[in-house]
Amino acid sequence: MSAGNSGDVLPVMESFYTIQGEGYHSGRPAFFIRLGGCDIGCVWCDVKESWSSTGHPMKSCEEIVAEALLEPSRFVVITGGEPALYDLTRLTRLLHEKGFEIAVETSGAYPLTGEWDWICVSPKNLKRLYKKTWQRHMS
Ligand code: SF4
Repeated sequence: MSAGNSGDVLPVMESFYTIQGEGYHSGRPAFFIRLGGCDIGCVWCDVKESWSSTGHPMKSCEEIVAEALLEPSRFVVITGGEPALYDLTRLTRLLHEKGFEIAVETSGAYPLTGEWDWICVSPKNLKRLYKKTWQRHMS
């Protein structure tokens, strides 16, 4: 988990409303929240701008939820970067309080915090797969 970040304020590289294009929820309108910060270093990564956890707007969980509420869908996908670098307990709790269904896309390299309706684990480096995150996905 990112040192010094309590999860009240998070680095949001970008957020956008779109159609989920892959996986189980493919075709569903969703508000995507891409958090900055990833230390996995996949050579094929197509969002290398997300590797740094700095240089992105720092937004409070309340701000993020307010932006999500502007869109018609009540489905949120939190992606990165590697979202599990941060404590997502507060953000996911506030989103649930507003009636959102919440999915996360993670490499599975770190313990995952928060309350999730859908966990998509896409292992990038099996040596770094955090067992409990994987088991939670499979249960
Ligand atoms: S885990 Fe994802 S964001 Fe991180 S380097 Fe790999 S593909 Fe890029």
